[in-house]
Amino acid sequence: MRQLPVLVVHGGAWAIPDETIEAHLNGVRQALSRGWHVLEQGGKALDAVQAAIETMEDDETFDAGRGSFLTCDGRVQLDALMMDGATLRAGGVGCVERIRNPIQAARLVLEDSPHVYMVAEGAEQFAAQHGIKLCRNQDLVIAREVERLKEAQAKAAAGHPDTTFAGAAFDKGHDTVGAVALDADGNIAAATSTGGTLNKAPGRVGDSSLIGCGCYADNQSASVSCTGWGEPIMKLVLAKWAADCVQGGGAPDAVAQEAIYYLERRLNGHGGMILLDQRGRFGIAHNTPRMAWAYRSTEGEKTGVKVE
Ligand code: ASP
Repeated sequence: MRQLPVLVVHGGAWAIPDETIEAHLNGVRQALSRGWHVLEQGGKALDAVQAAIETMEDDETFDAGRGSFLTCDGRVQLDALMMDGATLRAGGVGCVERIRNPIQAARLVLEDSPHVYMVAEGAEQFAAQHGIKLCRNQDLVIAREVERLKEAQAKAAAGHPDTTFAGAAFDKGHDTVGAVALDADGNIAAATSTGGTLNKAPGRVGDSSLIGCGCYADNQSASVSCTGWGEPIMKLVLAKWAADCVQGGGAPDAVAQEAIYYLERRLNGHGGMILLDQRGRFGIAHNTPRMAWAYRSTEGEKTGVKVE
């Protein structure tokens, strides 16, 4: 059955400062436009989410690819996952340090390996063997983030209460990027890519690249991408929780709201979620002051840094 395509993307949920709203809006619009181009041409949902994510990984506004937050020892460590709702094939990479577009490596894991998830040097070697040019870690580090890390560490040293847990406060950036798509063949897909949380311990993996936590897709339920404080999202396996609610008959917009409410009520977590089902019904929800998102269907485009 032919379907009318839909694409939803996000560029993080937190107290996005006024002066970076325009950059966030431009970033999600660009991503939407590249992903939509794929869907318009009759391309697959999987290719559309990849195109959207690559665009945001290349944009230093976001915590993905170059310009990501730094680990406490000043390095960029990236995580990404994509999932195909038609087949349940998934590909993820964690803690990669020398790949500019980790979503491309995730796609290779999905397509060209018998595995679902690869980490660190092993994932980098695999990517290089399959044609990805490795960069130096310094090529992914930008001055803004060096400064941001210094400030965070100075605050932590001074005993500032918000710094006890990396990612636990709204004013910590959550600029992870995500996309969910429905293609003309009626298949859905999801992808999420991140540099994780500011000042994280080396080797820490967040929710974004873990199946069912920060990303999930199944034609029988929904495609989901999350952002926010990863530890609570992981503990609740939130993306799968939401997909199951849709499968159980919940309406996507209500389910997205309910999932974020559950995150807050159960673990005092915060973040945002985009969700889309095979019928093109979608939800966008967050309990942070703002969330950057963009939506497109054949009926038109909506974009916003959504403010409560
Ligand atoms: N959820 C991501 C993590 O915990 C961070 C974010 O969404 O910005 O790694």
